[in-house]
Amino acid sequence: MTAKKVAVVGGGLGGLTAAALLARGGCAVTLFERSKHLGGRGQTSEVDGFKFNLGPRALAVAGAGMRVLGRLGVKPQGHVPGQKGGTYALRAGRLHTLPRGPVSLLTSDLLGLAGKLELARFLGGMPRVDADALEDVSMKAWLDTRVSSDEVREVAGALVRVASYCADLDVLSAQAAVRQLQQALKANVLYVDGGWASLVTSVTAVAREAGVRVELSAKVDHVVVKDGQVVGLRLGDGTVHAADAVVVAGAPGDVAAMLPGDEVLERQAAAATPVKAATLELGLSRLPKPQALFALGIDGPWYASVHSAYAKLGPEGGAMVHVMKYLTEADGPTSEAELEAVMDTLQPGWREVLVARRFRPSLVVTHLLPTAKDGGLSGRPTPQVPHVGGLFRVGDWVGDEGMLVDASFASAEAVEHALLRRGRHAAAEPLRMAAGA
Ligand SMILES: Cc1cc2nc3c(=O)[nH]c(=O)nc-3n(C[C@H](O)[C@H](O)[C@H](O)COP(=O)(O)OP(=O)(O)OC[C@H]3O[C@@H](n4cnc5c(N)ncnc54)[C@H](O)[C@@H]3O)c2cc1C
Repeated sequence: MTAKKVAVVGGGLGGLTAAALLARGGCAVTLFERSKHLGGRGQTSEVDGFKFNLGPRALAVAGAGMRVLGRLGVKPQGHVPGQKGGTYALRAGRLHTLPRGPVSLLTSDLLGLAGKLELARFLGGMPRVDADALEDVSMKAWLDTRVSSDEVREVAGALVRVASYCADLDVLSAQAAVRQLQQALKANVLYVDGGWASLVTSVTAVAREAGVRVELSAKVDHVVVKDGQVVGLRLGDGTVHAADAVVVAGAPGDVAAMLPGDEVLERQAAAATPVKAATLELGLSRLPKPQALFALGIDGPWYASVHSAYAKLGPEGGAMVHVMKYLTEADGPTSEAELEAVMDTLQPGWREVLVARRFRPSLVVTHLLPTAKDGGLSGRPTPQVPHVGGLFRVGDWVGDEGMLVDASFASAEAVEHALLRRGRHAAAEPLRMAAGA
């Protein structure tokens, strides 16, 4: 039997994973990436000896990413943060112990006694919450019914931000937020040695070993469709590549641009509200306050974390710190000074030991915020495009499982299931593979 010819568009972690899974399943896969290198938003840059991810990166230990990487035989190296203490809540410019467990809850001066009891009850009850019953409820509305004290609501909101990267709690579906909180409470996250480039390198190696052909600097302009069925794609230089199926692992707008005039895809792209963040990466020759490793904004959407305390990300003795502001849709441009002020509180004196820095005022963290209005995670576009035979999509905005990179991994796996398992059991049917096309 001729192998299915699959073209994957996009060489981020989602596209690479889909390519590797499909090639291991017997497909003849070519991956097209428009830039000169693989990785997409999972790339890591070396700056003066420090490894800068594109903003802070934490891989959920209990997420789909770890599951799918495991299937590919990739075991990310690194450490779970928080074990060395020095974890603070930042409120009104002051640091307080961040309540993360019974001991820190007791010793923290962030909340009064009643607040501590209510927060303990809220977090203790979280594993039993039926998240799927909350698809249509906003996280803010749900918190209002679940928590009576304003100060506890503020802490819960900060925990949602760090677990989901979303600061728009009044539109974020409580289903998505609660699932993220449950996952974070079940198992922490991993800071990866060498940055996420290590994941990109490992998945690329698996993909190449399985036979994936990679074309870089290869922008795909069009998906070619005949009688409702994908037959290939056309590159920016005019080259046509025949394929039985195309998997687009880019943004909603990328998918729509490749099928001009498709109103469904255009509507989906227009409706997708991205989640954004402003980031400041810092390489320091040493930490001015070695015990201050993490700060989470309570009365503002701030995050700061010394990632090198738990992962190899710079020279011996140096420190690689990520500072971030979770942006809402209403936010205007963020100034670098806003992020520096967080560092002034966590690590006063950091400017004197500064070696490298990089500021990004607005990065797209995920392409679609799962809203209550659209039914939460179930409202995201499906991996298989229903009205175009042989067209699939992968990304952090696709499918009903996970958020952030977990959604990219989960949707890659869903495409594998749709293309391989279904094809195996129903050889002549619905995908209408244009054999030999
Ligand atoms: C600041 C920040 C912090 C983050 N923190 C975390 C975190 O802590 N945990 C977490 O799980 N996730 C995090 N994320 C999200 C995570 O990085 C992304 O979800 C993930 O990297 C998405 O991978 P992807 O492959 O789906 O998309 P991308 O990485 O965006 O890859 C898409 C690729 O498609 C290519 N492409 C698009 N169109 C075309 C075309 N026409 N032709 C050829 N190629 C094309 C692009 O060049 C790109 O390389 C963060 C993101 C940011 C920005």
